[in-house]
Amino acid sequence: MKLIFELSKEGKEGFFVREEAGEVRIPSDLMRGEIKELPEVSEREVVSHYLKLSIMNYSEDWGIYPLGSCTMKYNPKVNELVASIFTDAHPLLPEELVQGNLRIFRELEEVLKEITGLDAFTLAPSAGAHGEFTGITTIRNYLESKGERREIVLIPDSAHGTNPASSTLAGYRAVEIPSGPDGMIDLEKFKEALNQKVAALMITNPNTLGIFERDIKKIAELLHSKGALLYMDGANMNALLGKVKVADFGVDVMHLNLHKTFSTPHGGGGPGSGPVGAVKEVAPFLPGPRLIGEEGRLHWEKGGDRIRSFFGNFLVLVKALAYIRELGGEGLKEAAELAVLNANYLRAKLSKKFKMSYSTPTLHEFVLSEESFRDKTSTLDIAKRLLDYGFHPPTIYFPLIVHGALMIEPTETESKESLDDFAGALLRIVEEAKKEPKLLHSAPHNTPIRRLDEVGAARNPILRWQKS
Ligand SMILES: *Cc1c(COP(=O)(O)O)cnc(C)c1O
Repeated sequence: MKLIFELSKEGKEGFFVREEAGEVRIPSDLMRGEIKELPEVSEREVVSHYLKLSIMNYSEDWGIYPLGSCTMKYNPKVNELVASIFTDAHPLLPEELVQGNLRIFRELEEVLKEITGLDAFTLAPSAGAHGEFTGITTIRNYLESKGERREIVLIPDSAHGTNPASSTLAGYRAVEIPSGPDGMIDLEKFKEALNQKVAALMITNPNTLGIFERDIKKIAELLHSKGALLYMDGANMNALLGKVKVADFGVDVMHLNLHKTFSTPHGGGGPGSGPVGAVKEVAPFLPGPRLIGEEGRLHWEKGGDRIRSFFGNFLVLVKALAYIRELGGEGLKEAAELAVLNANYLRAKLSKKFKMSYSTPTLHEFVLSEESFRDKTSTLDIAKRLLDYGFHPPTIYFPLIVHGALMIEPTETESKESLDDFAGALLRIVEEAKKEPKLLHSAPHNTPIRRLDEVGAARNPILRWQKS
């Protein structure tokens, strides 16, 4: 397929309206002058071009998107419909004109408190990683208000890379805690590392292996006995909805990824939302703006620290609330149960041919180890070959503690048929690896773009089209 620049012919125009008084064109002061050689194409060519591109792509609407840790569930279209009602509210509108919008903030805060058991939320952060930074900074401000300048944030080695990054940005030193042979944090190593210099432990639960950290309550007690806090990375909340309130097992501060757990299409850099919740003592240190007042007279408190402009990615908040209201408490619990059931169904089917990274039971996702196919093929080959069968591959080479990991999270929105098809393709691919390993080395064969030179793309990226 050609680039849109290659379709360009001088003098073609995308948009004009013919009026009796002559042709109405886009006023020249609205045209962008700084980009030279914008493609000159007709409207019809633009639509056709982008439609073709869109069907070359894979999406959550297309089929199973088992990208472990990312919770790529199907997102009901009614969420978009509800969000579309609010697209023209400007953040600078007077508060008395947007009481309905403010009520959405208030209601979402209330349901997130109910789901987690925490005492307060800020809805401002724009993504999970932004939430982590907000949460760790909140912990820092809380501890410093008590005159405590601590230096360290403990992080298990199974953690997402954003955890050490956020802690470092928030001014702490990230110290890694190894996992034990069961895939859970090594309690003894944790105790050894815990001292008065530790501000917090940042833990994902269930962790990135899909394993519930069984000792979480004990871990929280140990932290609290040293004056440190428990931060939970809530990216895997899809496994726990309606089953447990995280405050009950000792979490002090956490973020949620609304775009994952609460259903907003994500990936490709679209808007997200990472609300941060905290227990009572820490809540006053959450950043603003804080919504105060009664229904009908809601308003933003003036002043206070901000973590971003205005109030967060409002339409993502609307979609999350629409989704939560649509499912209700029972529905959310059922979603979590189905997510876990789907993952375990796939795990059982695949364990005939694949070795699991750990034998510990898993919740909403699980990780396959390279061990069962290492002598014939690689994780990358398997992922590329899945494309030929029409599937988006799982997350690969993460978590880092599993050599050649294939991390699979089907989510609750896949049917049994879809899970069977996906498992069938993976099982066929291991057979192919035995008989025809070359087929895998050169995969994908059926996609518009074949295997990319990924190293070359990283080392010598071409970021701007140049006329040849
Ligand atoms: C996705 C994810 C994050 C980061 O969230 P973003 O919204 O992508 O910034 C952090 N931790 C875990 C475990 C995740 O899966």
